[in-house]
Amino acid sequence: MTRTEAPRLALVRLALAALALAGPPARAAEAQKAAPAAVQSAPLTNLRYEITFDSTTAETRTLKVAVSFDVAGPGPVLLSLPAWTPGAYELTWFARWVGNFTPTAGDRSLAWDKLDYDTWRIQPAGAKSITVRFDYLADTLDNAMAWARPNFAFFNGTNVLPYPEGRGLDFPATVAIRTEPSWLVATGMQSVPQQAGTYREGNYHDLVDKPFLVGRMDYDSMQVAGVWTRLATFPAGALAGQARAKMWEDIGKVIPVESAVFQETPWKNYTVMMLFDSSFGGLSALEHTNSHLGIYNPQAIGSPVLASVTAHEIFHAWNVKRLRPADMVPYRYDRTEPTVWLWVSEGITDYYADLALIRGGVINADQFLGQTADKIAKVADAPPTALEDASLSTWIHPTDGSQYLYYPKGSLAGFMLDVLIRDASDNRRSLDDVMRTLYRSTWKAGRGFTAAEWWRAVTAAAGGKSFGDFAARYVDGREPYPWRQILPLAGLRVAADTILEPRIGLASTLDSAGRVIVRQVMPGSAGEEAGVRSGDILLTLGDISITDTDFGPKFRARFGKEDGQPLAIQVERAGQRLTLNGKIRLVPRVESRLEIDSAASAKATKIRDGIFNGTTGP
Ligand SMILES: [Zn+2]
Repeated sequence: MTRTEAPRLALVRLALAALALAGPPARAAEAQKAAPAAVQSAPLTNLRYEITFDSTTAETRTLKVAVSFDVAGPGPVLLSLPAWTPGAYELTWFARWVGNFTPTAGDRSLAWDKLDYDTWRIQPAGAKSITVRFDYLADTLDNAMAWARPNFAFFNGTNVLPYPEGRGLDFPATVAIRTEPSWLVATGMQSVPQQAGTYREGNYHDLVDKPFLVGRMDYDSMQVAGVWTRLATFPAGALAGQARAKMWEDIGKVIPVESAVFQETPWKNYTVMMLFDSSFGGLSALEHTNSHLGIYNPQAIGSPVLASVTAHEIFHAWNVKRLRPADMVPYRYDRTEPTVWLWVSEGITDYYADLALIRGGVINADQFLGQTADKIAKVADAPPTALEDASLSTWIHPTDGSQYLYYPKGSLAGFMLDVLIRDASDNRRSLDDVMRTLYRSTWKAGRGFTAAEWWRAVTAAAGGKSFGDFAARYVDGREPYPWRQILPLAGLRVAADTILEPRIGLASTLDSAGRVIVRQVMPGSAGEEAGVRSGDILLTLGDISITDTDFGPKFRARFGKEDGQPLAIQVERAGQRLTLNGKIRLVPRVESRLEIDSAASAKATKIRDGIFNGTTGP
């Protein structure tokens, strides 16, 4: 059903009320009968999708889509495109990128209109076999969307594969890719034997969960954990030589230790898809059942972050693509699917990415502890936000600094649970047992996990220990995490370094003319002492001229050794240029890090080793 169902029914109801007053009863009855049919397509069979992308369509960044099917019953055909791609929790409405929508039966054009903004209504007028053609503009560099270059494109099934409305999603279909003979196709979709360029899946969920890369790229494969793994990267040559060898080495280290958590590698093949484009700021990757698609700024090549993202996305193949909160089973594509469990689906996946790297030998213990300390610092810098609330709010992209907090904070919650389970069971069980138990008892049974099932599994792993208080404080609540109690249980401790650095104590913003305006002067700061006022235009700090609001690092680097020295500050106030006489002041700042406690008890040491090595047992 579409998300516009309710307003449409309301409209029908209004029409009925009007008719009841003025119109003949026969027409009212007709309207009443028509209402339910409006959200269900005529039954369709034999669905075939064909997508053409070649050097000609690339010129206009267009995917040419043809959808063919047989009409197996009366009524109009209703075709819908998804509003979102699972894993990318935001509504984008892929119908936005559709043009030249043309349904035909043989040589005959068929009448059509829009039923709502992502549903097309086609009148078969007796036709038994219909082909719908449309153009899809592939102009968005986002892994949930579609993007074309002169010799390459990627797209997701959610972008280009419409489904019959209101008929369920358990229908098989084929997807044929038409492209230049010399171009390659990479996808996790099953290929149809003897039919080059044709793929097939048994239901719509799988059809839209296997993105395609088409064009010129580097593409090779290797056996990892006894299963074929492929690496497809664009542009050709971007990930080559040493960097490609390192990527393969990391993939080879990560998959076996992740498989060990669940004691199975649940795919026939897995495709790692990586795109490098300098217009892309940072990096972003999106998980699928047997592939993931990452987009990276080329500067990421050679950085450990590539292995970290790869470990995260591959772990998703178990956690979220298979083991998933009941709120998101099955996926529905026409509206949001809010859940309070993204701290497990994303946060705990991020914890396991760190674990996979240390267990696989990609990083060492210091690096693991460094990443954990970074997450603690990130959470400390964000407004106190409950994990459940952060998960729930992701669909609206909060602006208060809590967006995506369920990644680092959920990762830390997973770390705490791991420590508490190992501590309660004398390291006989761990968070791995929780993940594996739920994977078997819910995913393998064809359903999602509930809150009761999650906490029951945690309690069972911890030998009956209750986690009600933990959930109330640290998952549903906003209490700071109790590191001073948790860390010693795993033979770890917080070490604090006190750093002396110059601080001016001014917060600023840019005005529309690009000037740096002081918005806040911290009480007792060097800035206040010099007489800087809120509203001043900041011009210079000593010999540093101020051109943007990010002058702090420059200031600290320049004056780090000049405690007590004079500092001339130039500002503009009420049209006058003033020079204020201040002083450099070094201020202590405490920087926390995690370290191994070499004096930890035998039990705590065992727990720490168990986390780092992925082992349990006395
Ligand atoms: Zn993720």
